[in-house]
Amino acid sequence: MELLEKRIQEDGVVKKGGVLKVDNFLNHQMDIALFNEIGKEFKRLFADRPVNKILTIEASGIGIACITAQYFQVPVVFAKKTQSINLDGEVYSTKIESFTHKRVYDVIVSKKYLGPKDRILIIDDFLANGCAVNGLLDLIECAGASVEGIGIVIEKGQQMGGRLLREKGCRVESLAVIERMDEETGEIFFRH
Ligand code: 5GP
Repeated sequence: MELLEKRIQEDGVVKKGGVLKVDNFLNHQMDIALFNEIGKEFKRLFADRPVNKILTIEASGIGIACITAQYFQVPVVFAKKTQSINLDGEVYSTKIESFTHKRVYDVIVSKKYLGPKDRILIIDDFLANGCAVNGLLDLIECAGASVEGIGIVIEKGQQMGGRLLREKGCRVESLAVIERMDEETGEIFFRH
C-alpha cells in the first residue's frame, strides 16, 4: 500500500533492537484518514471471506480493527491483557510474549464473545515474531471458531512470524512489508 509506505518513510523512526516507532500516525497519535484507507484495503483484500467478527489485541490493534470493522459491518472483540486470570471458566486464555515490552502477558477473551459460529478476521498493527497472532489463533482454536484471514498493517519481514504463519497455511495480508531497517542511518527498505 503506497500511501502507507510513504508515511512510514516520512514519519517512521528506526530504534535499536529492530523496533520501528510509528507513534506519529499509528501507535500514539492516530491518523484516522489513513486508518480509513487501511480499513478499505483490508475489506478489498478479504472481500471473498465470510467474516462475521474481527479479533485483535489491546491496545494498538483496537483503533485499526474498529475502522476496518465499519467496512465489514461486523463487531470487534479485543483480547485483554490481564494480571490475574479468573479461573471460573468464563474465559479462554493464553500467554503472549510482547516483542516491544519483553514480558509475557496472560491474555483472555470472554466465552460470551467468541464461539464456534464465529468466522474471524484477525487484525493487528505489527507482525514481528508472530507471538501476538499465534496467541489469538490459540484463543480462536479454544473457542472452536474459524480463521478467515490475518490482516497486518506493518510486517517486519526480517523476522520469522509472517513466514511461519504462511507455512501453516494461514492467509496473511500485510499492507507494508519491511525488508530491512538500518539502525545507523535510519533507512527503511520495503519488500514488494
Ligand atoms: P510479535 O508478537 O509478532 O512478535 O510482535 C507483534 C506485536 O508487538 C504487535 O502487537 C506490536 O504491538 C508489537 N511490535 C512488534 N514489533 C514492533 C515494532 O517494531 N514497532 C512497534 N511499534 N510495535 C511492535
